[in-house]
Amino acid sequence: MHQLTLSEMSKMLKSKTCSSTELTHYFLERIEKYDKKINSFVTVCPESALNAAKHADQLLSTHQSHHPLLGIPIAHKDLFSTEGIRTSSCSKMLAEYIAPYDATCVERLKTAGMIMLGKTNMDEFAMGSSNETSYFGPCYNPWNLDHVAGGSSGGSAAAVAAGLVPATTGTDTGGSIRLPAAYCGITGIKPSYGRISRWGMTAFASSLDQAGPMARTAHDCALLLETMSGHDPKDATSLNAPVPQYSEHLNDPINNLRIGLPQEFFTKDLDPNIQDVLNQVIEQFKHMGMNVQTISLPNANLSIPIYYILAPAEASSNLARFDGIRYGYQCDHPENIEDLYMRTRDEAFGDEVKRRIIVGTHVLASGSYNAYYQKAQKIRALIKHDFDRAFDQVDLIFAPTSPTTAFKVGEKLNDPVSMYLSDIYTTAANLASLPALTAPAGFSNGLPVGFQLIAPHLQEQLLLQVTHQLQCITDAHQHHPTLSNFEE
Ligand code: GLN
Repeated sequence: MHQLTLSEMSKMLKSKTCSSTELTHYFLERIEKYDKKINSFVTVCPESALNAAKHADQLLSTHQSHHPLLGIPIAHKDLFSTEGIRTSSCSKMLAEYIAPYDATCVERLKTAGMIMLGKTNMDEFAMGSSNETSYFGPCYNPWNLDHVAGGSSGGSAAAVAAGLVPATTGTDTGGSIRLPAAYCGITGIKPSYGRISRWGMTAFASSLDQAGPMARTAHDCALLLETMSGHDPKDATSLNAPVPQYSEHLNDPINNLRIGLPQEFFTKDLDPNIQDVLNQVIEQFKHMGMNVQTISLPNANLSIPIYYILAPAEASSNLARFDGIRYGYQCDHPENIEDLYMRTRDEAFGDEVKRRIIVGTHVLASGSYNAYYQKAQKIRALIKHDFDRAFDQVDLIFAPTSPTTAFKVGEKLNDPVSMYLSDIYTTAANLASLPALTAPAGFSNGLPVGFQLIAPHLQEQLLLQVTHQLQCITDAHQHHPTLSNFEE
C-alpha cells in the first residue's frame, strides 16, 4: 500500500476499498516499526491523525465531490507552524514550542482533508545539507543507513522514500527540498519565490525561503502544489497570480521543447557515475522529441559564495527574535538582561546556527557591508540576468542536483565548506527566485541520483509536465529501499 501514488490512494478511498482510518493506521504502524533507525519523524500525532481520518471517512461516505487529497496522510517539516503541536525547527531553542496557529500551506492541506501524521526531522533552522545539525539527531538515508538523508528537509525525504508517509512538505532556501529528494530518490519541487505563502514558516533567509511538496511522482507533487499555492494576504511577498490546476495539464504536448544544459554545471566536479546516469535522462528527453542544447550561465559559479553571504545575513537578522524572552528556551538564573541574552543564545543554538549568525552579522556590519553584502546583491542580479538570457534560448534548464550521491554520516560535519559545496547546483535557482524540481534519474553504487530541471518564473507547470511524461515511460522513481533489517 505504501508504494501507491496519491491518486491511487484517492481512488481506493473513493471506491471504499479502504478507509482513511485504515490508511492512517497503516502508515502509523510503519512509522512505529521502521523509524527508530531512520529518525525521519521528530513528532508523531496518532490521536489527532485518527480523529481527522474519522472525519474524512464521514465526508467520504457522502456522495458529494471531494478534494482528491481528502483522507490521505501527510507529514510536515518541523519548521511549519502546526496549531497545538510542537514546532521546534529541530532546535533546542524551540524544543518545547507549541505553535498557536497553522502555517497557511498547512491549513490549505488540512482544509483539503489531508491527515497530518506528524512533523519531520530537519537541520536546525533549516541550516545544513545533511540533516545532521538537528537537535533530535541525524536523519539516516533509508537506502543505506550509513549515509545521510540530505538536508535540510531530510526527514521529509527519508519518510517518503521509506514509505512511512506518502507525501510531505519541505522548504528550500538554497536546495533543501531538492538535495534530500535527490539523495533519497523521490520527487520534490521548489516553486517560484512567492508561489506558496511563507506565513507560519520559521524564517531562515526571507528573500530565498520557499515551501514545496515532496512525494514519489510529479503527478503527486502537482496535486499537492496546486493545493498549497496561491495568494495569502498574510504574506506580503506571496504572489497574486492565478494558480493553474497543474494536475490536469500533465499530459499536454511537450515535443519540440528546448532544454539547455549549462556548461558550467557539467564539469569534472561532477561525479562521472552521476554524469552517466544523467546522460540516460538526456537521451530519454531527446527520445521524447525535445531539443537539447548547451547554454551558459557565466556567473553560476558565484552562487555558493553569494548565497553564503546573503543567507547568513538574513538569518542573523531573523534569528535575533530568539532572545529568551518572547518564546522558546530561556537560560536558568540570568544575572542581568545581557547575561539572559547571551547565555540563552549560547546554550540553545547549535554550532552551525552560531556560525551563520556570526558570518551574517559580520557581512552586515558597517565596515564590511559594501564589500560583502552590497556586492553580493549586485552579483545576485547578474545571476538572475544569466537565467533571463538563457531562457531566451531554451524553455527549461537541465542540471545535476548534487555533485555526489548521499555522503557518509559524519563525513562533512567538521568541514563546513565542503558541506556548503553540496549546494553548488541548487542555490542559483533560489537566488534567481525560479522554480526548480528534482526527480529520480537512476542509481550509482546503490544510492539514488536525482536530476534537476529549472524553469522560467511561474512555469512550474512545465517542470511537472516534462517530469510526469518522463515518469510515464521510465521507472527510476519506482524503486523502493528494503527495510527488512530496520526493525528493532
Ligand atoms: N544547505 C543550504 C544551507 O545550509 C540550504 C538550506 C536550505 O535550503 N534550507 O543554507
